[in-house]
Amino acid sequence: MLTIGVVAIQGAVSEHITALEKSSKDLDCKIVTIKRAGVVPQCDGLIIPGGESTTISRILRFEGIDKEILENKGIPMMGTCAGLIIMSDYKNEHVEGLGLIDVQVTRNAFGRQAESFQAPLTVTVFNSPFDGIFIRAPAITQAGDATDILARFEKYSVAAQQGNKLALAFHPELGNDLRFHKYFLRLLDSYK
Ligand code: GLN
Repeated sequence: MLTIGVVAIQGAVSEHITALEKSSKDLDCKIVTIKRAGVVPQCDGLIIPGGESTTISRILRFEGIDKEILENKGIPMMGTCAGLIIMSDYKNEHVEGLGLIDVQVTRNAFGRQAESFQAPLTVTVFNSPFDGIFIRAPAITQAGDATDILARFEKYSVAAQQGNKLALAFHPELGNDLRFHKYFLRLLDSYK
């Protein structure tokens, strides 16, 4: 039985849980929420949802969840939008990225809330375009040699994978296309 944890501090948490439930029908797995310390060590994989990276980062630290994620950093993880920022090593006075994937990010790369948009993305691991939903999205400006870029939009990279870590600038949980969740579950299955 696989245990998948969804960081449930703020943001698109229930949408990720629903997408995971729909994607994991053939898998023996349990989905748990992570609001405080003590849960991450039981997880075989983690999702860090989008929301507001300043809030998510602050509460991860306050609750001591950040340390547990770092102690378990070998497990598969998927970060979306603000979750990508948390997975990177981005740092400012409010946000402390955890350095789980070797990418540089810029926050709010595509403008403000009003400039949120949807765009078909060519993704290297899928055979037809994936509709990316971008909401005050960050972008990947640089990636290390061990990091594969899975999708680009305009001048930026917007999806990256390094081993069992997957980081997306957009929100796959807000659409009906489950391919990224299924891809993540396959990663989990192959790294267990
Ligand atoms: N703009 C947010 C941030 O920088 C991310 C937005 C999102 O996750 N949809 O934290």
